[in-house]
Amino acid sequence: MKAENYFSANADLAFYYEQVIDWQRLAPLLATADDGERPAELAGAWRDVLGVAGDYVGKQVAGRAAEVDRLGTPHKGDIKVSPPMAENLRGLSELGLMGLSLPRAYGGEGMPFVVQAGLLEMLARADASTMVQYAFYSSPAAMIVRFGSDAQKRRWVPRLASGEIAGWVAMTEPEAGSDVGNVSTQAHKQADGTWRISGRKQFISSGNGDVGVVLARAVPGSRGLDGLALFIVPRCVPDAEHGQRENVSVERAEDKICIHGSPTCALSFEQSVAEIMGAPGDGWRQITTFMNEARVAVGVQSAGVAQAALVAAREYAAQRVQMGKPIREHPLVAEMLLDMETTVAGLRALWMECAVAYDLVQGFAARLHRLSEVDPERPALEARARRLERYLRELTPLVKHYGAEEAIRVARTGMQVFGGYGVVKDYDVERFLRDSLILPIYEGTSQIQALMATKDLLKTVLREPRGLLIPGGHSAWLARARLDPELSRLYMAGLRAFSGALGWLVLDLARRVGPRRAAQLLRGQGSLADEDLGGVLLAAERLTVMLAHLHIGRLLGQQAQRWPARRPLARRFLQRTSDVCQLEGRRIMRGDREVLETIERWRGATA
Ligand SMILES: Cc1cc2nc3c(=O)[nH]c(=O)nc-3n(C[C@H](O)[C@H](O)[C@H](O)COP(=O)(O)OP(=O)(O)OC[C@H]3O[C@@H](n4cnc5c(N)ncnc54)[C@H](O)[C@@H]3O)c2cc1C
Repeated sequence: MKAENYFSANADLAFYYEQVIDWQRLAPLLATADDGERPAELAGAWRDVLGVAGDYVGKQVAGRAAEVDRLGTPHKGDIKVSPPMAENLRGLSELGLMGLSLPRAYGGEGMPFVVQAGLLEMLARADASTMVQYAFYSSPAAMIVRFGSDAQKRRWVPRLASGEIAGWVAMTEPEAGSDVGNVSTQAHKQADGTWRISGRKQFISSGNGDVGVVLARAVPGSRGLDGLALFIVPRCVPDAEHGQRENVSVERAEDKICIHGSPTCALSFEQSVAEIMGAPGDGWRQITTFMNEARVAVGVQSAGVAQAALVAAREYAAQRVQMGKPIREHPLVAEMLLDMETTVAGLRALWMECAVAYDLVQGFAARLHRLSEVDPERPALEARARRLERYLRELTPLVKHYGAEEAIRVARTGMQVFGGYGVVKDYDVERFLRDSLILPIYEGTSQIQALMATKDLLKTVLREPRGLLIPGGHSAWLARARLDPELSRLYMAGLRAFSGALGWLVLDLARRVGPRRAAQLLRGQGSLADEDLGGVLLAAERLTVMLAHLHIGRLLGQQAQRWPARRPLARRFLQRTSDVCQLEGRRIMRGDREVLETIERWRGATA
């Protein structure tokens, strides 16, 4: 793998920071009083940070990645990261890159998320394991900043932001994976007002770290998503006899085929000392903020892994000669390379849009916080903030789903370009494919993302059924996109196919629940059970795939209007959007119920 600056040598990545991102809008919203610079200067300083980071990541972290993967971590006993991983983290910390988007008041650098995300993509390209470890310094810290008391923030955040201590975030349990509402770790308030937690957590990234944020049940007898709370749990606590004692037991680190250098730990808690953040019952609302951010971050990670496979395949195909010419000159190989490039560029367009929307949402929230309740600017600002929140909510499951699934496809294609050498451990592409396999699993599986996107879509349609009469009528961003005539034809073909399939699903649902319930639902009365929704749920991944292609096609099409050099990419992607939507739409409208009938049969057999 070529050692190069992963920022400056990646024209597509740098293009966003140099041309696309509207710093005039973003920088003033996010700048703090001590920034003091004008937007252009501030943006220039942030780009410089990415340049420095890109140099370190592309030359040092990438160079150690194979060794990080080979060494992995111990699975029992003293679980810690390998020396080359520790070296990566030390280097990032020395460059001041650990807490990029954490507030300066708590030792961070106060930069926008979109800047940190650029570093996440580069780290994932160099080494997906290091990217995971890196993320678990700032993500628990960000939750403490958001929900912790001032004392908790002062105690934990600066140490996480500097890289002095590592953290983790624990939701998953042996019986609570996708079903977060099944969490059974219990938190008990003691007579002196302190808390203790008991239970087990499973698959916790960086779970050997010094402090964790834990989701536990804080209201006795509560069920589902009610009664949960978030706790800060130190790995060790002071002890009169020994100075320190273990407060969390790290049972083991899993032996995995992917992100081998990142310890994924099983933890147990036995009357462990814990500090609550917020109040009992706040936990679900609090943890969803983390999950949404983490989902965008996995979209970014997916772009990094896919970029790694793309660059490796491109370089190999240029020098490997078969039948008298470099293999990239054989049309089938050239098509694979172009397909990979199109996918990666599309994914990057989507994650950038999410990251900027995220920053704008944060910026508006901060500005609203500073305004008085009666400020005349408030209503308009609140309306803009709500609109952006809806936009981010619409895009988040799409970037996670599209990124994860497509990164695997790109990594698999990369391996194919290498032929037999692709499966040999001397080359990196086999690691890229192995690492890509985690992407559709953690931070909510692809199926869970598809269900979230589809349930939101259905809610919008039931609230505003007239939207079904307009292509893309459920989404202001899709319906109002204006592209040039040729690109618009492709885009509209995709959008009509999507809306046709959605309309078909809604009619099918209305037929199944009957006219009376359908009318009630349209009036906002009654609710739908999963049994009613069988056909819609079955179509969830297809709808999600279509939506992701439509949004990316829209974004690239809009870029093509401002930067004509982007037009071939936009055309290629929109051609794909049109094809994918028409195919998936036909599959949905075939109305094949074999899967649902099979479930009925299984149910019958077990009844
Ligand atoms: C390497 C690694 C790191 C991780 N890091 C963390 C971490 O730091 N913190 C943390 O809390 N967790 C972490 N996780 C846990 C991860 O988020 C869960 O593995 C994931 O949410 C899925 O849960 P599960 O493994 O129990 O699978 P299950 O929930 O049992 O799912 C199994 C399959 O069923 C599907 N499925 C389940 N329910 C539905 C449904 N209603 N509709 C359709 N399909 C469904 C799933 O999509 C999946 O294909 C990590 C996991 C791994 C492997």
